[in-house]
Amino acid sequence: MDFKDKLRHVMDFPKEGIDFIDITTVLQDSEAFRECMDTFKTLAEKMGDFDIIVGSESRGFIFGAPLAYHMNKGFVPVRKKGKLPYKTVREEYDLEYGTDVLEMHSDAIKPGQRVLIVDDLLATGGTTQANIRLVEQLGGEVAGVIFFIELMSLNGRDKLKGYKVDSIVKF
Ligand code: 5GP
Repeated sequence: MDFKDKLRHVMDFPKEGIDFIDITTVLQDSEAFRECMDTFKTLAEKMGDFDIIVGSESRGFIFGAPLAYHMNKGFVPVRKKGKLPYKTVREEYDLEYGTDVLEMHSDAIKPGQRVLIVDDLLATGGTTQANIRLVEQLGGEVAGVIFFIELMSLNGRDKLKGYKVDSIVKF
């Protein structure tokens, strides 16, 4: 399946000049969503052994949690500041459109655990770097990072040197 035919481009969202790639058109299509999740699984299997999946608010949840279920792994949510109820570790990061803080529960990852990070889209790589730092703060090892979509022109992979990175659709 060519996912490019299923993704919707929304011009000038959330700001003028941005060509936003809308994944909801894939999610609402049962065949496309199933094939997307099966492809995530194939890429995840190529990353070697891992123990747990990390996904960040909010589109990282949409792919990360079903992948964890599909692969019989646990899932760790990374959230914007102030949303998680228990003790957290935090990382500030640059977004494509501003800055923010991400948090993870301080007992979410055990030292030495191998972690697969999942997100919907790689743009500048700032969000993923923050996810990696959260995992490493807790002593986890990043087994790999997988995206549904990668925006090649923004060179996000440059920020992820030394890590295994893969994506399903490249623009
Ligand atoms: P980065 O931190 O790599 O610059 O930006 C990636 C993050 O921003 C991802 O978590 C992603 O959800 C969001 N993002 C940025 N641009 C887009 C876009 O065009 N479409 C979607 N679906 N998400 C985007």
